[in-house]
Amino acid sequence: MRFSVSKNDPNTVHMNAGGYGTPYFGKILSPGQIDLYPAGRGMRAELTELIKDFAADPAGFSAAQGKLNHSCVYCSKGLTTNESLAVGYGPECAKHYGLPWGKFAPVTKPTRQELVNDEVPF
Ligand SMILES: [Zn+2]
Repeated sequence: MRFSVSKNDPNTVHMNAGGYGTPYFGKILSPGQIDLYPAGRGMRAELTELIKDFAADPAGFSAAQGKLNHSCVYCSKGLTTNESLAVGYGPECAKHYGLPWGKFAPVTKPTRQELVNDEVPF
């Protein structure tokens, strides 16, 4: 799943399977409204869960998707450097959206699986 911010409207987020040419599920509109396209109409529950994960931790979700797809979560260009793969977006989008990149990139939150594997006993 890829969430990408519309280039024409920063309040609209597009949802597709993984970049240009992959199934387009629909878009999240600024008032919190979801506009599902044919490929997404049978996936409302699954998409809702993914949207909740994205909303809870946009940076972590973006980083995970960028690593998974090796392409920028915002513009779909290929990610080729460790700095870009660490955050899930490239330097151009970082600059465009005012996001940290490179040596100032935030450390991503561990995944649930990593938390389970590294559980600290209390
Ligand atoms: Zn980009």
